[in-house]
Amino acid sequence: MLYYRDKSFFVSVSEIDVRSRNSSFQSFPSALSRYVLANGEKEICYYVHPAIRGNFATGYFMFMYRLMKTAGVNLMNLADHVNSPIQAFSAPEDVIAAKDVLRTRGTGNNSTYVTRGADGATEVYGKTYGANKYESTLICLALARIATVGLRLYQIEEGGLKALPLPSRRAIHAWGGVIETSTPAFEAVEFRERNSLRSIRFSYNLLEKFEKKCCAFCACAIPQIVQGAHIWPVAAIKQSGLPFDEQLDHALSGQNGLWLCENHHKLLDSATLYLHASGRLHYRRSLNAHDTQFVRQTTTTAALPNVVLQPQFLDYLAKRNATIAAKDYMPI
Ligand SMILES: [Zn+2]
Repeated sequence: MLYYRDKSFFVSVSEIDVRSRNSSFQSFPSALSRYVLANGEKEICYYVHPAIRGNFATGYFMFMYRLMKTAGVNLMNLADHVNSPIQAFSAPEDVIAAKDVLRTRGTGNNSTYVTRGADGATEVYGKTYGANKYESTLICLALARIATVGLRLYQIEEGGLKALPLPSRRAIHAWGGVIETSTPAFEAVEFRERNSLRSIRFSYNLLEKFEKKCCAFCACAIPQIVQGAHIWPVAAIKQSGLPFDEQLDHALSGQNGLWLCENHHKLLDSATLYLHASGRLHYRRSLNAHDTQFVRQTTTTAALPNVVLQPQFLDYLAKRNATIAAKDYMPI
């Protein structure tokens, strides 16, 4: 930190020898958090060491530089070292799209997911310990600058591993973000008290499995109206007589779920639609012609792909379908 003419400059200097994608940014979010929490005139800067070597202009690095720019960082001499200009993200959708591209190329870090909640707030789901905490902090602070409806960070705590460091959490709060933490205790209370499980962990597991919110029956990808749907319903799990911990595991398993839009979630839960073990979607024969036409037009997926039909998924599906009379249904 430099203090000059009544102004504080927080300067993070790059590594010289860039080896792995995370190590290069490990000190930066700490500098950014301190900058956010400082009072008075201030500026946050990133300075590339002139002797830098290694691959520091990969897709992942460029994504990180764009996040820095979005967070208001002065990328002092970066233009001397990378060819293309670094542009700030202007909306959360830009960040979501850029992260999707990284994932498709197989270079992304799959531990952090950016999406939107039902109320339109930008949501970050992430493991926030180990090296992931640097990326999560930067993503949240960048998004806090451009998320108009609000920003929520859902932290996934595992095996006693801790949440974000206190300065990061305080910085995210200072820029208007809200942080919620998925701990085993939190998930147990959610499961015990609600039938429509509002589980951070279940959503995170579905994001890990499918990568983004997209209805499995119609490909609607408007995240505000796409929900985590259970295959073996939570209410049925609760009546299974299994020990509580096992019930909770089934309720949180990513294998026990699909992303469905609000329409298809209700069509499935009302048994208007029936998912056969082959993956084929069926509709109820007793629907009138108008409703049949509506269901057939809006359900654009005839059958789920085999990659979804894993043995565990099919076990859950068999439990859901135990009370279904298949003869009452027709293939879509
Ligand atoms: Zn749908």
